[in-house]
Amino acid sequence: MSSDAPAPSTREALLQSTAQHLGAEALTTVEESSISEPVSTDTAPFPLSPVCITQESVPRNLKSDPAAIMVGLEFEIPRWEPGSVVKWTAWQRGYDSPADATHAAAHLKQAAEAWNKADVGVNFEFVPLAKDANFVLTHGGDKGRVLASSYFPNRKGLNFVYVYSLAFRPDFRNGLWRIFTHELGHVLGLRHEFAMDPNPERFEGNAVQIGEANSLSVMNYREELPELQRSDIDATQQFYRLPVGP
Ligand SMILES: [Zn+2]
Repeated sequence: MSSDAPAPSTREALLQSTAQHLGAEALTTVEESSISEPVSTDTAPFPLSPVCITQESVPRNLKSDPAAIMVGLEFEIPRWEPGSVVKWTAWQRGYDSPADATHAAAHLKQAAEAWNKADVGVNFEFVPLAKDANFVLTHGGDKGRVLASSYFPNRKGLNFVYVYSLAFRPDFRNGLWRIFTHELGHVLGLRHEFAMDPNPERFEGNAVQIGEANSLSVMNYREELPELQRSDIDATQQFYRLPVGP
């Protein structure tokens, strides 16, 4: 290697090491052309309130060697710099079928477009390769009642939005994009609507409320699919207009 070649970023190093261990096919991404059509929004009645978690899973396509992907930088920041573009891609391996991978990616794209339309100060953009992405959509395996999970803004080399087996059941399948609007809310830095609920079963702590509480918030758990509310958009716009703290 020539001495003036730039050192690989953390993300590139992780991906190179993963490709060496598992083969480059493990990192195959979904074709952008396969997710260009709007998704069907017909949904069946929702059988239970959506559940998401923020703890780490391991992408199913990388299961044989999780150690390769679980390192990274750990400087947590609560939000993206206003005006940021958060780039994402979607891996194809790890799903029960290629159709499931495309389905999940198309639904995430729809959710990303809903947030982009809301113009909160941060945009989401699909990129073809994980080396250029801030996060990858991937299958996290079976997590029981959990449908999906995501992450908060941070400086890690690579993050994941996970979708779990339950989300592909017929009664959730077509509503997946609305579940992803909730997950992308976390990616933008939003906590659960009930984070400071005095009920110890719901209390998460360390959250600050911006704007009025709204039980219909996309960040609440309800007996229906999450839906982006005007109040979510207003509060997130306000969040990204706050001056940069010390
Ligand atoms: Zn959540």
